[in-house]
Amino acid sequence: MSGLSRELSSERQRQSRFEQGDDVVVMKFGGTSVEDAAAIRRVIGIVQSRLKAHPVVVVSALARVTDQLLEAGTAAANGHLGAALATVRGIYVRHEQLADALVDGSAYSALDGELRGEFRELESLLLRLEASRQLDAQSRDHLLGFGECFSSRLIKEALCQAGIRAAHLDARACIVTDARHGQASPVWEVTEQRLQQAVGPLLQSGAAAVLGGFIASTGDGVPTTLGRGGSDFTAAIVGAALGAARVEIWTDVDGIMTTDPKLCSDARVIRKMSFDEAAELAHFGAKVLHPATLAPAMRENIPVYVLNSRRPERDGTEIAARARPGAKTGNSVSAITAKRNVAAVEIQSARVNSELLHTVYAVFDRHACAVDVMATSQGCISLLVDSASALPAIAAELRGVAEVRWENHQALVCLVGENIRRQPEVASRAFAAVSDMDVRVVCQGASDRTISFLVEESKVEESVRRLHGIFFPQPQPVRDWGGISSAYCQAG
Ligand code: ADP
Ligand code: ASP
Ligand code: MG
Repeated sequence: MSGLSRELSSERQRQSRFEQGDDVVVMKFGGTSVEDAAAIRRVIGIVQSRLKAHPVVVVSALARVTDQLLEAGTAAANGHLGAALATVRGIYVRHEQLADALVDGSAYSALDGELRGEFRELESLLLRLEASRQLDAQSRDHLLGFGECFSSRLIKEALCQAGIRAAHLDARACIVTDARHGQASPVWEVTEQRLQQAVGPLLQSGAAAVLGGFIASTGDGVPTTLGRGGSDFTAAIVGAALGAARVEIWTDVDGIMTTDPKLCSDARVIRKMSFDEAAELAHFGAKVLHPATLAPAMRENIPVYVLNSRRPERDGTEIAARARPGAKTGNSVSAITAKRNVAAVEIQSARVNSELLHTVYAVFDRHACAVDVMATSQGCISLLVDSASALPAIAAELRGVAEVRWENHQALVCLVGENIRRQPEVASRAFAAVSDMDVRVVCQGASDRTISFLVEESKVEESVRRLHGIFFPQPQPVRDWGGISSAYCQAG
């Protein structure tokens, strides 16, 4: 079967599961896309433009709310109940003001009642945290999920007020996960079934479905979350369960860019990317997509679009099975990312063998400490972890078997691109650019698509800027040199 016919046949298989032949579009709006009344009005306009495509709207908490909830929970658990309640009060007032600006009449009263009920529940959770003096992973998930509960109710009412038929769905009743609090994974069969049962009839009745991203619950109904930034993942889970025609991630940048525009103002939008490239980018720290987002979309071959809710007319980035045109011929580096807060761990032992590797893995796993990159050599296992918080306990557990040392405040800088590893000149140009920066080579990509290395966190911006300048040079300005255009003159 040719590549094209394979694509066409998987296209045919991917039919919407609520009614054969009908499209479904899943649209996820991040925190900044719903941060104030103007942003929510833009969301209403964007949803309105997709009404024929049966939209399912997934929303994050309003910008900064999840961090504020965490702050309130930490304050309560440390005995500062007054400060915690004041923070939550601020969140309440912000939502009330938005409800007031966007919704009126009896719909306002109903929404106000719902929000008040949710805030009372949140306040009693803070009282319990103050009494117990601890914020464990389970309570943390319960606490952080309130942001999406509030925003999804508010946005559903705002859509209805604008004349869009919309219904609210409780994401915690539809998305069922394991009990890995803080980083839960969906139990697919149940989740798929529940989403189809809950969303299908709504869409068939012509209503848009609105649900909070990031939040879920275990089979027993205990609240969980999908990890920070997890609303992107919710959108992909919903898309895969419903056999959506597309998943749209609406955010505050024009698409996936050649690097984080906050690190380098020269970053440019990438028009098309393959699932694999985008998944590597997300895995290696590009915040624009939660790392787990692309797996369900890839499995069901659903294209994912990253779009700017402030400039909806722009094309954004399309992520699909096919690689970007020219990926194999042109600049093989498609983007540069940086993952901060990495700790580099060295485990030394007289005997590094499979038994030791097994023990080390088991101990890291028991402490829910995800290992990123791993290498072994005579007497030493080197690995990277995203957080150093569990390392003291891990070192204590391995005492007598191996000695564990680590360095904090490191960052992993990564070049991503199809077949990048098969082009040795890419690595040599990259390392030449940062050779004076105490760079440690970590690996030339477990896949063909990445080359990554470790730098001190303080050097991240400088190294990303230098690399970006090399692999994505700005076009030279055309000047008149007495008849010879400078476009023909190479620098140096
Ligand atoms: P949202 O609230 O919409 O989920 P996020 O803040 O999670 O938005 O993600 C968008 C941010 O991701 C951008 O503002 C940008 O700073 C950051 N980012 C990091 N790497 C990239 C990249 N390669 N392309 C685009 N944005 C990136
Ligand atoms: N509100 C959650 C967070 O801040 C989830 C998300 O924004 O996707 O992490
Ligand atoms: Mg995000």
